[in-house]
Amino acid sequence: MTTTSQPTITGQATNAFDVERIRRDFPILSREVHGKPLVYLDNAATTQKPQCVIDALTTYYSEYNANIHRGVHALSVAATEAYEGARLKIQRFINAGRPEEIVYVRSATEAINLVAQTWGVENIAAGDEIIITGMEHHSNIVPWQMLCAKQGARLRVVPLNDNGELELDEYERMLSPKVKLVAAAHVSNALGTVNPVERLVELAHAQGAVVLLDGAQAVPHAAVDVQAIGCDFYALSSHKVFGPTGVGALYAKYDLLTKMPPYQGGGDMIASVTFENTIYNDVPHKFEAGTPNIADAIGFGAAIDYVTAVGMDAIAAHERDLLEYATEVLSSIPEVRFIGTAKARAAVVSFVIEGVHPHDAGTILDLQGVAVRAGHHCAQPVMLRFKVPATVRASMAFYNTRSEIDALATAVRCVVEKFN
Ligand SMILES: *Cc1c(COP(=O)(O)O)cnc(C)c1O
Repeated sequence: MTTTSQPTITGQATNAFDVERIRRDFPILSREVHGKPLVYLDNAATTQKPQCVIDALTTYYSEYNANIHRGVHALSVAATEAYEGARLKIQRFINAGRPEEIVYVRSATEAINLVAQTWGVENIAAGDEIIITGMEHHSNIVPWQMLCAKQGARLRVVPLNDNGELELDEYERMLSPKVKLVAAAHVSNALGTVNPVERLVELAHAQGAVVLLDGAQAVPHAAVDVQAIGCDFYALSSHKVFGPTGVGALYAKYDLLTKMPPYQGGGDMIASVTFENTIYNDVPHKFEAGTPNIADAIGFGAAIDYVTAVGMDAIAAHERDLLEYATEVLSSIPEVRFIGTAKARAAVVSFVIEGVHPHDAGTILDLQGVAVRAGHHCAQPVMLRFKVPATVRASMAFYNTRSEIDALATAVRCVVEKFN
């Protein structure tokens, strides 16, 4: 996703790296579930953690736990260096122009809410419009609904075609000077669709609108370059990219960020406080009130080091192979109907099985050791669009293998036999 919306493919998927060696870095992958080897295909919900991430957390707590930005003592200096070092890693990972453009948050959800409640409240007025898309996660719907209700603005939705791709002509028609913000998923968690984000940004900017991209599902799958994309805001989440839960990042262009009012008040976000007046700290600290999630930010940095060492291009190539293979083997089961067949897709297959409720399917798959998500994937409007109550979603990561896809297919055949 550096210059095009499609993951870059280099090397041969199966030779580019040693998946069995990679799997040994993830302790959880060797466990069993219901007496069967775990086949973890719920990576869009959360990803597993390599040992180096787990070690980064224990090392922090056992060797240099201290509060940051305050103490002059050795531990505090070490903790501050590690915490700020992780910010630099995030900056380089998405190629942001400078570290001040990276704000630590709790999650991708909080990143979006921060923008809605600061930039949004200042810049969205009655009669303005916000455009989102028909494939958004609830995290990229509800904050904008709340903002529209508060400001008297209007929320508009770009429709999807039957493959689960954006109707770009419709998007172009919807854009006008009334539109102040476009908020879109880079990659859909429910359908896997990779959106043509450069084009979305170009068209929005031509009308003077600011663009926020929800990158929670993009960064685990391919290299992302926010400067090449040109977006104004980009939200990402540590736990979706092999890091700990409880931390995420908001990228915001420096000029926008310096103009935004603070999000929460408290310690660390101030330069000086009297009862009469408070002077806010510089960005990004202005947006990081209170003691942050130091350990998990450091763990996030360790996760970025890990995937960078594996290579985002090698990851994209391996996942491309898994996606093609999963599509092929599941297509051979007549009862399987895919929901989401976009040309540009991340390694996610969402499907329904004729005559079987997705929750029943999920339960039977679990008994075979296969962990998938069965539900609406926090994207209920997508389910409505495709007229299904829920789907079974197998979402892959670079540690998954073709033989795990075979296990999925075998388990799906079991489901079909049980119900037909
Ligand atoms: C998981 C996810 C989110 C929410 O991220 P959190 O960090 O868990 O809050 C938002 N958007 C998409 C597309 C996601 O997959």
